[in-house]
Amino acid sequence: MERPRQKTTRDLKLGNRMRLLRTLYFDGPLTRRDLSPATGLSTASISNVTSDLIAEGVLREAGKLESDGGRPQILLEVDPGHAHVVGVDVGETHVRVELLDLGLTEQSSAQYALAPGRHDPATVARHIVAGVRAVLAESDGTQVLGVGVGMPGIVEYGPDGVIHAKAFGWDEVPLGRTLMEHLAPLPVHVDNGAMTMGQAELWFGAGRGADNAVIALIGSGVGSCIVADGRLYRGSASSAGEWGHTTVEVRGRGCRCGCRGCLEAYVGAEGMIERYRDRGGSPLPDVEERALEQLLDDDSEAARSVVDETVEYLGAGLADLLNLFNPELIVIGGWAGLMLARRRMDDIVAAAGAYSLHQPFQTARIVSGRLGPDAVAKGAATLVIERFLGTGRG
Ligand SMILES: [Zn+2]
Repeated sequence: MERPRQKTTRDLKLGNRMRLLRTLYFDGPLTRRDLSPATGLSTASISNVTSDLIAEGVLREAGKLESDGGRPQILLEVDPGHAHVVGVDVGETHVRVELLDLGLTEQSSAQYALAPGRHDPATVARHIVAGVRAVLAESDGTQVLGVGVGMPGIVEYGPDGVIHAKAFGWDEVPLGRTLMEHLAPLPVHVDNGAMTMGQAELWFGAGRGADNAVIALIGSGVGSCIVADGRLYRGSASSAGEWGHTTVEVRGRGCRCGCRGCLEAYVGAEGMIERYRDRGGSPLPDVEERALEQLLDDDSEAARSVVDETVEYLGAGLADLLNLFNPELIVIGGWAGLMLARRRMDDIVAAAGAYSLHQPFQTARIVSGRLGPDAVAKGAATLVIERFLGTGRG
């Protein structure tokens, strides 16, 4: 049997560096004195690690804090301009590529429309590669740490970034490997879009500080990201959180996954638009975002019945999440979710209350996402930042 490896001085130094960097990234700016209780490191270790990180340009001084009688304490923070990262959102209607600093502030972006039904892997990969090259061409020369990609469907964890996305007609597509071949030497990390958006809302948005939360992503399709005890819950093969394919109607409407009666077939933008058409609604624009906006603002009988029904199905879906996971917080995000929540949040919360057990409903808050519809791209960038925080190196 292999003996567990002894921790070397190098491992310890790396561990100290990671703890300090994460603390300053999420809770900074802080003084060296604050860092000791916050990280559990000795004053000497803090002094060593901070001087290394300042010399490398990872940390910077962020003003001074006057202290009673003593010398003013210098505040330290992670320099957001130290490095850049690329975040990519592959949605049903577009590929969006953003170049961001370490604080997730956008530096530049590129967007390509995807025609309905034209989601073949080669087209999607071509748009991603073109978008990454376009934003890098506008870069000011700051080092770029890597590329994170948020995709619909199930993304297998591993270096090849293998994707199973029924809605795109993809089965075992090694998108991560293809992108790495084109974008080398930049590292590429691929994950499910709901997971990446969940991580962005958790780090910088409405989910900040929550240990038990569900971030619901409603676009054309429907997904979720489950946070349990402060960590993303992935399940045994990374497919946990496929909330859109839980059944809300036995023998109900056909879903893109091949089953019937899934939540997505009622609450996803595509399902809403199709039901509106089936009920004789007026013609809608081809672009799905504009079509849904028009549907939501239409006060015809067809539109009102579809929207009221959607609110009720969404409430029932949220009630399932409340009953199953007892979260302290549910964040409704995704472009269609944000549009619906902006108009009908009180009704959505009331429907969730009507379909859930009293106790988990009473102890949870249901709120809108704060990062807007771009949260998937920003979240994809956190895949790269997560690795950077592990070492402080690109
Ligand atoms: Zn389904």
